[in-house]
Amino acid sequence: MIKDYLLDIKNTLPEHVTLVAVSKTKPDEDVMEAYAAGQRIFGENKVQEMVGKWERLPKDIKWHMIGHLQRNKVKYMAEFVDLVHGVDSFRLLTEINKRAEQNNRIIDCLLQIHIAEEDTKFGLDKEELEAILKSDEYHQLKNINVVGLMGMATFTDDKTQVRREFKQLKSIFDASKIYNPQMSVLSMGMSGDYQMAIEEGSTMVRIGSSIFGKRNY
Ligand SMILES: *Cc1c(COP(=O)(O)O)cnc(C)c1O
Repeated sequence: MIKDYLLDIKNTLPEHVTLVAVSKTKPDEDVMEAYAAGQRIFGENKVQEMVGKWERLPKDIKWHMIGHLQRNKVKYMAEFVDLVHGVDSFRLLTEINKRAEQNNRIIDCLLQIHIAEEDTKFGLDKEELEAILKSDEYHQLKNINVVGLMGMATFTDDKTQVRREFKQLKSIFDASKIYNPQMSVLSMGMSGDYQMAIEEGSTMVRIGSSIFGKRNY
């Protein structure tokens, strides 16, 4: 049962760690089962799917965009999205700022850092991150709030490597607070590696299959 899986995980999380229940590809009924068990934060990786769920489901749900985001899709979610995890360019940040302003909102964002070995995972490197945080253009964006960083480890059974990548992200997170002292969220860890991510300093875990079961694409 979704409820049992959810509560089992929730009960093991330290108090300072926020659970994002990743409901991508899953039907409304599954979201509502987790909702009935008290979950209010859900993660989606496709804008269209998230918009549909937002329209149909209770309005006190906080929707997190966790996937790779195209600039031309930002406008569809600017009215309601609670946190955008995967911001991987200054241009995307500028677009989110623009759409937030049109909606009279300030949208919280996480900058995505590339820590995995695979080329397929998106994100900034340390230098690119620092360049953004130091720039005047960044400080002129009044309708976004960069509250932290997000990263995904390499998809591998090599636990040593995954731990090394989490450590790397944590150290970038700590170092970048010099430029952005208000950063408090470190989004790292999924079903397979969230315990290790928490050991390495994660404050937000994104868990899908361990709550909702395997996804059929
Ligand atoms: C799908 C997804 C998750 C959840 O993955 P699980 O292994 O099912 O827990 C977490 N983060 C991102 C960015 C995802 O796309």
